[in-house]
This record gives sequence, structure tokens and C-alpha cells, in this order.
Amino acid sequence: MEQLVIVVEDEEALGLMLKYNLEKAGYAVRIVTNGNKALAEVEQHLPSLVLLDWMLPEISGLEIAKLIRSKPDIKDIPIIMLTAKGEEEDKIKGLSAGADDYVTKPFSIPELMARVKAQLRRAPEKQTASELKFEDIRIDLVEKKVFRGENYIHLGPTEFRLLKLLMETPGKVFSREFLLKNAWGSNIYVESRTVDVHIRRLRSALNEFGPDYIRTVRATGYSIDKAFADSDTAKDEEKE
Ligand code: CA
Repeated sequence: MEQLVIVVEDEEALGLMLKYNLEKAGYAVRIVTNGNKALAEVEQHLPSLVLLDWMLPEISGLEIAKLIRSKPDIKDIPIIMLTAKGEEEDKIKGLSAGADDYVTKPFSIPELMARVKAQLRRAPEKQTASELKFEDIRIDLVEKKVFRGENYIHLGPTEFRLLKLLMETPGKVFSREFLLKNAWGSNIYVESRTVDVHIRRLRSALNEFGPDYIRTVRATGYSIDKAFADSDTAKDEEKE
């Protein structure tokens, strides 16, 4: 799949030149000319990299970089600042606002491409659809295997589906009805207490190698949640 680069640049000619060269190098490109729209574009399209002009009308690239770094979903996306300013002080400002690299205009295209490539190599591996992770628990969705740290955890198919549902949205409390419908299918008749039996099995398999992250919410359902495991009510709720 092509990696997406979002270019935030108000100078149209420069934006188009960057788009042309990035596409030639094999990236997908979106240009944003309005700084006020940059954050929303990044949040919506989750690019692999943002090329961010410093001098933009209304909101500066510096402010946009700070905003990107403040949002948990997008804070790890690499940012390269583009600027006409060459002062060392500005470079430091840019980097402390959250930029990963800094390119001074006018720059050569081969140099910029080398910087882009270097950032994309360094970027942390994104969670792909082939894997789910929560703390030290990892589900390999291709092999359908579960690991805790280095330990392989054998789960029955129902426990596997339950864990997958919980790990798709950590912190969210799922009702027994939802879990039943999604882990067993709507055409199968199962009592809602059956969910508890399978959650108990899932817990005991996982907890062999670490703390209990599965939270029982009385009269509601279950979630996977780390904050909960740190509190001392974990043990009380476990005994239903
Ligand atoms: Ca500009």
C-alpha cells in the first residue's frame, strides 16, 4: 500500500512541485493550502508523514506541529518543517514544537526526498490489521495466535474472539449481549452467563503471565483496561 504524505503549503506552485516529486517517488499525496484545515486533514487521513510549511496565513506551522503532538491518535506521525527561515534559533523552536526534521527553503528535491525517506524508515511501525496489541498482550490476527510477552497463550476459539473484541477498543465496556452477538453470532442461542464462563477461562489463561487487565463492570459487562489492573479493586471484582 502507498504511504500517504500530507503537504501543508500555501504556495500553490511549491505544493504542486512537491506533490509531483513525492508521487514520482511512490507516495500518495494530499495538499492542504489552508493551515486551519491541516489538523482535521491529518486526523482524518492519518498520513505516514506531514510536510509542514512554517509560514502559513492565520495559523503557523509551529502551532500545527504542537497541535498534532497533543493528539494521541496522531502524535507519532513524523513531521518535517519547511521554512525560509534559516536561523538556528528557529530551527530549535521548530524541533521543540515537535518537528522531527527541518528543511530550509530553497531546498533541493533529492535532499528533501532523502529526508522524507529517512523519517519514514524511522517512524514506529503502525498497528496494522494483521496485529492487535494491548500492553504486553499481542494477537497475531493472521496466525490467530495470542502472545503475552514472549509466551504463547493457547485459547479456545470463543476466548480468542472475546479477547479480540475487547482489544479492538481498550477501555470500552462491552455488554454481555454485545459480546454474545459478536463472539457467538446472532443465530446461536447462548445464555448471557455463558459469557462469564468464557471470560473466566480467558482470564486464567492470560493471567498466568501477567496482571489482570480484564475488568468486570457489575451489571454491565467487560472491558480491557490497564488503569483498572493498577487499582486494588481488581481482585474484588474478579470474584463474581
Ligand atoms: Ca508559506
